[in-house]
Amino acid sequence: MVDKIKVALNGYGTIGKRVADAVRRQDDMELVGIAKTKPDYEAYVAAKKGIPIYAVDPSKSESKFKSVGLTLNGSSEDMIKKADIVVDCAPEGLGEENKKIYEKLGKKAIFQGGEEHEVAGTSFNAAANYDKAIGKQFVRVVSCNTTGLCRLLYGLDTAFGVTKVRATMMRRGGDPDDIKRGPINAIVPDPIKLPSHHGPDVQTVLPHIKIDTVAVKLPTTLMHMHYVNANLKKAVPAQEVAAALKQYPRIWLIPAWLGIKSTGDCVEIGRDLGRPRYDMMENCVWEESIAVDSTGELNLFQGIHQESDVIPENIDCIRAMTGIEKDGKKSMAKTNKTLGIGNFNPWTLIPPQ
Ligand code: NAD
Repeated sequence: MVDKIKVALNGYGTIGKRVADAVRRQDDMELVGIAKTKPDYEAYVAAKKGIPIYAVDPSKSESKFKSVGLTLNGSSEDMIKKADIVVDCAPEGLGEENKKIYEKLGKKAIFQGGEEHEVAGTSFNAAANYDKAIGKQFVRVVSCNTTGLCRLLYGLDTAFGVTKVRATMMRRGGDPDDIKRGPINAIVPDPIKLPSHHGPDVQTVLPHIKIDTVAVKLPTTLMHMHYVNANLKKAVPAQEVAAALKQYPRIWLIPAWLGIKSTGDCVEIGRDLGRPRYDMMENCVWEESIAVDSTGELNLFQGIHQESDVIPENIDCIRAMTGIEKDGKKSMAKTNKTLGIGNFNPWTLIPPQ
């Protein structure tokens, strides 16, 4: 048995805390700790779970941690020194700054979609380009929207060939805890200048896909919704598209009979299944929305849970970069099993490793 990969989490917010929990469910990984800027409810819960906490900047926060009785194990640099790989989940743009620390300490690091592609030089989606990350020092897991698009387009392109894609992202205004973000009562083209950055971002993973994207922000925190229009190389019945996508556990074809009519229902089934934090890590594709005309032009809707769809991709990226598993299909199968992806049994029936 190879030693477990030691993983450090630098940044413990929406994405970081989910990656940390996912790492803890892998039998080939060990979470050495998380780095926090200040003591708060997220640090409190991490401590309750027995996760070692380190301070991003102890000079600013050490006394604050001490005053509320939370044990600090040192600085984030102390934590990073103990790790084989760091998953950087700091706010958008800070990963580029943090990279200097990883370079100085000679550590591998995964960045998130808020960073530019150039920060890592390799952008990742497990189904589409697992092999590209093998052995790399720096890799970026693409954003929630781009992950959702890459999974879908990779599946469609592999099965039928895709000549052109146009996609509209109807984005959530913020995450549920992002109380300072909006809009509260408006629809905001974001950006107004078209196209949006999502198309070029998809091309960092799938360079041959021709794609134009637009995005608007909406007064909701639950999920994104994508309307996708794609020209397939052959006209196939909608059932054949559904059958092809069903081969990917990270794409869930929502059966019509479930009566899931909105992102609200997608979240509610996550709650009813007892998924942790109601996370729906799969693309939620409405099966009855799939329509293909006689020229092969496809239309569909998919819901994307922005807080969680990138989590399994981070786990697979750790395996690829450290080389602990060189077969992407095996890594994805292991990740899916341990996180309950594609398994609609209540979470409580899935034992931890
Ligand atoms: P967040 O604000 O929820 O969490 C970031 C955490 O990092 C906070 O706890 C913050 O205190 C901490 N932090 C601040 N400065 C730090 C530093 N210098 N070093 C380490 N930690 C620091 O952010 P998030 O939503 O989890 O986003 C993290 C990354 O993931 C961003 O690149 C974002 O674009 C990307 N992402 C976010 C989502 C989403 O919907 N939230 C989805 C996919 C990707």
